[in-house]
Amino acid sequence: MSTKKDIRALTKEQLRDFFVANGDKAFRGNQVYEWLWQKSAHSFDVMTNLSKETREMLAHNFVINHIKVDVMQRSSDGTIKNAVRLHDDLVVESVLIPTSTRTTACVSSQVGCSLDCRFCATARLKRMRNLNPDEIYDQVVAIDNESRLYFDRPLSNIVFMGMGEPLMNYNNVLKAIDKITSPEGLGMSPKRIIVSTSGVPKMIKKMADDNVKFKLAVSLHSAVDEIRTSIMPFNATFSLTDLREALQYWYEKTKSRITYEYVVWKGINDTQKDADALVAFCRFAPSKVNLIEYNPIDDGTFQQAAQKAISMYTETLERNNIVVTVRRSRGKDIDAACGQLANKS
Ligand code: SAH
Repeated sequence: MSTKKDIRALTKEQLRDFFVANGDKAFRGNQVYEWLWQKSAHSFDVMTNLSKETREMLAHNFVINHIKVDVMQRSSDGTIKNAVRLHDDLVVESVLIPTSTRTTACVSSQVGCSLDCRFCATARLKRMRNLNPDEIYDQVVAIDNESRLYFDRPLSNIVFMGMGEPLMNYNNVLKAIDKITSPEGLGMSPKRIIVSTSGVPKMIKKMADDNVKFKLAVSLHSAVDEIRTSIMPFNATFSLTDLREALQYWYEKTKSRITYEYVVWKGINDTQKDADALVAFCRFAPSKVNLIEYNPIDDGTFQQAAQKAISMYTETLERNNIVVTVRRSRGKDIDAACGQLANKS
């Protein structure tokens, strides 16, 4: 590892200041910034509108840390999983999910995860560290490139549903989204970005206060405290009452619909009472429930509920005017589906 500073940790202002402090013009900073972010330059040599001396001076002072797609796996359904190596040799995963009209990138926000959801493979990895904004941004760029290469179209949507809890790395996630949405980065609309959280009430309120323009998804899985705590133990600290209060605050401020991710498991949350509790929990605001298929990762403690239970859920939700979709898993054959990201490749 180099002791030189990573130039991509600098803001545009700091880059401009650096050039002025070195007796050059501030706009050089803009040029370099454009190379780093819009053109994803991996070396100073390619920055052809700078003099050789300037390029050498930069290389003397800085490195350009970049992620590297180590292994790319393709599923029989078109899904692509990237194992991404970071500058300190840690690895995270990101996934490209194609449909007939869209390409969605599912990106990681942390190496491992500090939460302890019993049904999630990522939870078995210790949280090693937060990803930097550029490491998040680079995952998106890598998938955008793959989408253009293999599907002939740019990336259209981004979900923060890879490894990690985005709201426990909030500042870096926000900075990455700023770059992704900025015309100097990828210029994507924030409306096409979903940040998914296990539900950190304080941070949901902070997002509302920050007036963010992206969408929010909550991995709920149960609207009954005892059950949720048994499958997502941190619920003992961040209870459903606090979560609900934070979501109410979010909705009042943003007027943005809330999506809930929900898996129905046999013998855990598959009764009418569970479905009624879900309705009671999310009725306060326009909501959408995604019933996601369980991707087995363990010895069988968790099993996908019977089709009858899924139908009971959809009927109950629809009767109460809550939008519901049943989601098929993608990329299961390469361990790229929800909850399967565990650096196995
Ligand atoms: N920590 C954030 C981001 C991860 S998103 C969050 O929890 O929202 C990953 C999604 O996959 C979450 O909705 C999670 O609950 C779900 N998930 C985890 N393990 C799963 C599994 N084995 N099968 C299906 N979905 C799973």
